[in-house]
Amino acid sequence: MSKIIASAGINGAHKIAKQAEQILAKAIKQKGKDCKVEFPNTGYYMPVIYSITGQAVEKLGDFEQVIQEIKSLLPEPVADDLWTPYLGPVLDAGMATLFAEEIIEACKYVIGPNPVDGIWLGAADDVILRERGIQFVDGSAPGFAAIVGAAPDVETAVKIARKCQERSLYVFMAGHHNGTTFAEQLAQAGVELGWETRLVPFGREITAAIYAAGFASRVALTFGGVKPGDYKRHLLYNKNRIFAFVVALGKVTDEWYATAAGVINYGFPTIADSDIPEILPTGVCTYEHVVSNIPHDEIVEKAIEVRGLKIKITEVAIPVSVSPAFEGERIRKEEMHCEFGGQRTPAFEWLRMRGTKEVEDGKVEVKGANVDSVEVGGKLPLGIVVEVAGRKMQADFEPVLERQIHTFMNEAQGLWHMGQRDINWVRISQTAAQAGFKLEHIGKLLHAMFHEQFSSIIDKVQIKIFTDESQVTGLREQATAVYAERDARLAGMTDEDVGTFYSCTLCQSFAPNHVCVVSPERPGLCGAYSWLDCRAAYEITPTGPNQPLPKGNCIEPTIGQWDKINAFVLKTSGGNIERMSQYSMITDPMTSCGCFECIAAVLPSTGGIMIVNREYPEMTPCGMKFSTLAGTVGGGNQTPGFIGHSKHYINSGKFIAAEGGIKRIVWMPTMLKEEIKDAFIKRAEELELGGEDFLAKIADETTATTEEEVLQFITKAGHSVTSLEPMF
Ligand code: SF4
Ligand code: ZN
Repeated sequence: MSKIIASAGINGAHKIAKQAEQILAKAIKQKGKDCKVEFPNTGYYMPVIYSITGQAVEKLGDFEQVIQEIKSLLPEPVADDLWTPYLGPVLDAGMATLFAEEIIEACKYVIGPNPVDGIWLGAADDVILRERGIQFVDGSAPGFAAIVGAAPDVETAVKIARKCQERSLYVFMAGHHNGTTFAEQLAQAGVELGWETRLVPFGREITAAIYAAGFASRVALTFGGVKPGDYKRHLLYNKNRIFAFVVALGKVTDEWYATAAGVINYGFPTIADSDIPEILPTGVCTYEHVVSNIPHDEIVEKAIEVRGLKIKITEVAIPVSVSPAFEGERIRKEEMHCEFGGQRTPAFEWLRMRGTKEVEDGKVEVKGANVDSVEVGGKLPLGIVVEVAGRKMQADFEPVLERQIHTFMNEAQGLWHMGQRDINWVRISQTAAQAGFKLEHIGKLLHAMFHEQFSSIIDKVQIKIFTDESQVTGLREQATAVYAERDARLAGMTDEDVGTFYSCTLCQSFAPNHVCVVSPERPGLCGAYSWLDCRAAYEITPTGPNQPLPKGNCIEPTIGQWDKINAFVLKTSGGNIERMSQYSMITDPMTSCGCFECIAAVLPSTGGIMIVNREYPEMTPCGMKFSTLAGTVGGGNQTPGFIGHSKHYINSGKFIAAEGGIKRIVWMPTMLKEEIKDAFIKRAEELELGGEDFLAKIADETTATTEEEVLQFITKAGHSVTSLEPMF
């Protein structure tokens, strides 16, 4: 091992340790030793201290023992330019630095200045940890770049951030260079910051880098099952599983160097743009430990190489970047150039199989006005027809492939997609439009992605895009007929007829705990995946998000619980959901991601429920609009009294069967009533509720807009719910 400079790391560690002692003394003086100390809404105490030493710090006074630990780790301060042949003392100094930084940041939560301030987010809470941390484990995020300091200019900052995003990396930001921070540079360029875009500003001081280390520690504790205090396994887990590295931009101070030494313990190397002593030989990290003097346009690639990361990027020749990192990106009204569908204009998306002669691979046609012919804030109708051919393609696969349009489009930066079938909604951002993004690029994107992910069944793909209103509505009629045919394929099939349901975890990229359990009588809540579709999807990709679920033993037939399904849900929800009922919205209801076509909510005083569909924009009797309700119900949580579901499910024999099914419905918007009318009346007749009469006894926005009005209406109408047991 060649010689390294120890002075910077060791001296920096002493400076930070002193800072920690000072702020701790101040905090204890102000609040007392018994004052509680924590990172808000997190488990695992001080995660770095806890994972490495096993000590559970709960009160300010507990930090005194940590200070002793820091002192015992700290080597004596050394003269400048001291050479040492070993990494050992520098690594110890680094670990002491991390403990000290954790004390400093935690004390800030107690006595201020509050780490959460403006763009600065401070510690990630446990909800974020579960949502995001899992991505490091399942591979949807290959790792994170901890960026310290600032780029020489805003443009360079944006370039570096984009490069990380294109590779699906998270960017954790801390520290400043001469008062300028990387995060503020991005904000200045109008780049959207936050967990959704994977660009996470922790804090403007270098000590805030501890949140990145803490995040890695918590991932190891939560998902790696590493025991607190088992520091060897902890550090190895990080080295082998969390592909992180530090990019140091600007003058590397002693404090930066000490922090870099700290995370070398985790196996995270540092890549710097400046001239600092390198630590090249391998030992702790997979390859080099500190690499310096790297030009900005190579720094991300170099970091990836040094960290030994394998990243697959889809190169699609369109003017915006494409990566799963953009999946969570929102485009607000003020940021959008134009939009399509979403009840503002007619729209649909339809994938169909054609003969091989009818498809010219890669052909993209756009008929009608394009992005550049609408004003900012404008809207257009949109019909997307994807035609595929392939020797192994089957008609049964159509809905499965069609549902991928959602994922593929969201992966393009500046493109946002919501919904499915004929309730889709698309936005294109101003930045994308300025970069020259046009409708044909949606075609190019879909062509590339379908080939990349479904090459086993698809040989050719062509895309037709329509924006002319009459053409869109005409074709939409054809598509709607196909959607109805697809839904009808299952008619008459019951859950009892099959021994196997299917899972769908496609939405875990948005809602990591969410699993749709799809049975013949309960389609996925997005309405786009039926039991048959899941079966087909499993056939296409046996290791994909749709797995067969043998039911196992029935635990409770009324609410619909089976032991093997519960076990599967427990495992795939990351241990969060213990039991799940297929037929109840009260007892262990199914979780909801966010794609539901409808939400059912209990209206307690009426003894019944209301159902609101996504298209209905007005206030509902439960006091919330669909959008607010969606925030409450979605995200992968179990919310007794609320479920997200598809429209088709309303007329299913298993619709909240445990609570009495459609007999409980006391309110629906007229547009929803109208849409499901035919099948609903049939269902009401089967149940001897009186067909059309029963529909008329259900209130809607023309007769009731508050819960009291609903109660008055149904009492007067003699709705049968009044004779049922209360729901709770
Ligand atoms: Fe799958 Fe459910 Fe998401 Fe639909 S809502 S894609 S069924 S997980
Ligand atoms: Zn979803």
